[in-house]
Amino acid sequence: MSTLTLDSILNPEPLQPARTITASDAAPETTFSDFEISQVLKDRLAAAGFVKPTPVQAMAIPPALEGDDILATASTGTGKTLSFLVPMVDRLEEISKPSNRESKSPILALVLLPTRELAMQVLEQYHRLCTNLKHDAVLICGGLSEHSQLEQVRRGPRVIVATPGRLEDYLRRKAISLKDVDMLVLDEVDRMLDMGFLPAIKRIVQALPKDRQTMCYSATLDGNIREIVRDYVHNPVRVEIGTTSKPSDRVELRVYNVMQDQKLAQLNKLLGEEEGTFLVFARTKHGADRIAHKLDKAGHTTEVIHGDRSQSQRTTALKNFTIGKARILVATDVAARGIDVSHIAHVVNYDLPNASDDFVHRIGRTGRAGASGVASTFMTPLEKGDVRKLERELKIAFKYFDADKTLEKELRNAPIDLGKQQVNDIAGLLQMESRSWKTEGGDQPHGHQKAPHAPRGTSGGHGRSRFGSAGGGRPQNTGRRNRGR
Ligand code: AMP
Repeated sequence: MSTLTLDSILNPEPLQPARTITASDAAPETTFSDFEISQVLKDRLAAAGFVKPTPVQAMAIPPALEGDDILATASTGTGKTLSFLVPMVDRLEEISKPSNRESKSPILALVLLPTRELAMQVLEQYHRLCTNLKHDAVLICGGLSEHSQLEQVRRGPRVIVATPGRLEDYLRRKAISLKDVDMLVLDEVDRMLDMGFLPAIKRIVQALPKDRQTMCYSATLDGNIREIVRDYVHNPVRVEIGTTSKPSDRVELRVYNVMQDQKLAQLNKLLGEEEGTFLVFARTKHGADRIAHKLDKAGHTTEVIHGDRSQSQRTTALKNFTIGKARILVATDVAARGIDVSHIAHVVNYDLPNASDDFVHRIGRTGRAGASGVASTFMTPLEKGDVRKLERELKIAFKYFDADKTLEKELRNAPIDLGKQQVNDIAGLLQMESRSWKTEGGDQPHGHQKAPHAPRGTSGGHGRSRFGSAGGGRPQNTGRRNRGR
């Protein structure tokens, strides 16, 4: 494994992929049945409604089936999940059998990714392909019951879908063995590095066999990502599907010039004028709660997800949004990572994102899988420079709209009577910041109360195992078609 030195950062070696595949190399009329995969898998793909591969699938699946390492720069919503699940499922069928009472399979495939939501979506897609194998893939991430996760690991899953922190913790405690892993997927590497997972990833990869296949996905290949790539992939086939740091052309990019205290009214106006679902991004968890609460009060069906909500609350919120029970989902950046809901019509940047990369990820939630979408960004007078910077960095042009000056102003922080309120700590201060809405509808934070117009689901969630039992036999390693090593 190469080490990170000042020289290696200043003079990075050029990445030497075995070959590069771009969209023009993919056969335009390919269908899943053209791939060299088992008939069973072809049937399952058809049953799940997948007929024609997306470009990243058409480009990555054939070399991955040959056993090549893959290095793909693919933006959100491109179908990258199936591009690694199809070769993975095919390989598992070839070399192993799922665990049963008599014989347990070791863990053969590992998917590392940045967030719980993304992990759950990968798992869902896995179960769409392997409908009868409920115990075969296990989710390992923070926020879920440790006991339940380890219990599921003991049943012998062949696939682990994990965030690095919790998995590394289990490894350190020797609660899990990765010594038989044959395929590693590093999904959204750029994001995992942003979130500080590099040390955990390094320790996890050290616990894997060197002779394995690795598929690596990232929105960009800048900075540290090169180091990761050089260390973990071997003669990778480079898959590029156009520019990845740019919003999709199918998304209409609007900017509303609006005062801070009129943002809520502007959002309400958009909700009245436009059809379809809305994903609203707030900068802070507290802000997300506040916006969701006010939208609820205005009669909209609203859910909220952010880092302070429990896993079961997030799961329920996402589910209600996905099935159309809630029209609006308010989210912070980290919580929204990987949301895969195909029908999002409108993304609203209620607060500006911190970086252009976050902007691309946010609006990548709309305009997915061939659909069109709208992304509206609220800009206060002081933020004009930041919005121009977004345009320059991403080489995009917004359509500008001036918000109606007569929009209702939001009353947030009424004057504080310090004679009546004594504040000694941060919690007290935060309570004061939120007092306007807390006193409106009781003292429960958003999500713990039923809105009059917005019936919510009950908690439920996946705190315990979501999976049933598996059957099967022992894995038999038959070797890879072509490891390219
Ligand atoms: P992903 O980029 O993997 O998160 O996928 C984005 C969305 O596209 C998901 O809802 C997938 O179910 C859907 N999708 C992926 N591949 C295909 C395909 N070949 N045909 C139709 N939909 C797909």
